[in-house]
Amino acid sequence: MRVSDDRYTRDRQRLDLALRLIRLEARTFTIRQWTGLSDDRIRKLYRSYCLTGNAKIVLRHRGKSPRQAAFFFRNSELNFQAAQLTSLFVIYGLLRGTSKRVESGYRIGSLDSGSLLCQTYEAYCELHAPIKISFEHAWFLLTALARHDELGIGRCEDCGGVRLADLLAKRKISCGNCRPLLVLSPSAALAC
Ligand SMILES: [Zn+2]
Repeated sequence: MRVSDDRYTRDRQRLDLALRLIRLEARTFTIRQWTGLSDDRIRKLYRSYCLTGNAKIVLRHRGKSPRQAAFFFRNSELNFQAAQLTSLFVIYGLLRGTSKRVESGYRIGSLDSGSLLCQTYEAYCELHAPIKISFEHAWFLLTALARHDELGIGRCEDCGGVRLADLLAKRKISCGNCRPLLVLSPSAALAC
């Protein structure tokens, strides 16, 4: 393949990924992280996407991105969906490792990892209606699990299923499917 063809293909892939992220309501900052496109180019892309008649209404999220792991322990349904999304991250290879500890299986800025993240989130959306976790919260969940300082993967003591583990909590919590989250862990008590 000639160099110019190769560049064209890469650019096309970058734009396709950016459009996919816009559809999933990702923030401009996140789109820039994954595609390397400038804010200006993302804004133009966003405008042209919204001008096409068949585009669904896309919300633009402003302000700070999600930063609190406690969000995923707010209630049982949210916790259950977060555990399912976590499993999908493992299945799609965005997280890898042993049952004791997982680590990142993605590379920020890689178009392949970016598409995999979209694919995983789209699979999550197909499983749940209504969805409780936005794309930005899903991206935060993935980074928090990869950091392994606040969140980890555990096993529910009641059903043996995958549960999201609050690494800062002293008490083990059952999965959102088995037991309602009546008592919030210390880290979960913080506002999101
Ligand atoms: Zn359970």
